[in-house]
Amino acid sequence: MSSRSERDKAKQLQEKCQSVLNALLRDEDNKYCVDCDSKGPRWASWNIGVFLCIRCAGIHRNLGVHISKVKSVNLDSWTPEQVVSLQQMGNSRARAVYEANLPDNFRRPQNDSSLESFIRAKYEHKKYIAREWVPPQLPKVDWEKEIEEEMEKQRRKKKTVVSTSPAVTEKKVLEGASVEVPQLPKPTNPSPKSGRTNKLERERNKEKKDSDLLGRY
Ligand SMILES: [Zn+2]
Repeated sequence: MSSRSERDKAKQLQEKCQSVLNALLRDEDNKYCVDCDSKGPRWASWNIGVFLCIRCAGIHRNLGVHISKVKSVNLDSWTPEQVVSLQQMGNSRARAVYEANLPDNFRRPQNDSSLESFIRAKYEHKKYIAREWVPPQLPKVDWEKEIEEEMEKQRRKKKTVVSTSPAVTEKKVLEGASVEVPQLPKPTNPSPKSGRTNKLERERNKEKKDSDLLGRY
């Protein structure tokens, strides 16, 4: 495989990761920071599977990567496995797991130091965790294969149209058709809407136009 299609594949993979992440952020579940409840989180801890505000993301970083692996949703690059981990958990489920035993009268802390204590209690000491909870196994993610298949499909489509020269078409038609084919009368006033060659010509022109519009291939 050429380096160009490798690059295309990597680009498409990143685009897919970003689009799934953005969809997750639009989800009602993830519209508020999982820890402090502030609006519009743009960070995530992908191993825990939660979306965070920038302040809580900083606190998560301090916990160390053995507890929380933090990334910016829009500024970092992602792998499908990391995205799927967020997809599997999300803020609502994470609260059900990590805050299962939070006291009824608990008030979510707002100042930095009490917020850090809360976050440490929650993820480092697992003080409020649901005892019965078993971390899920990550499923095998094969977005790369899907993207490869899609790209291959596009390539085949393009190749078929481009390689169909009139000579090849004529031969195919003769092989499969009755003897009447060569006896087709020559139209004296050929309409662009009649005849195989014209149709092919149009398809080729259309393909060319599409390629021009896309500005690649
Ligand atoms: Zn927060």
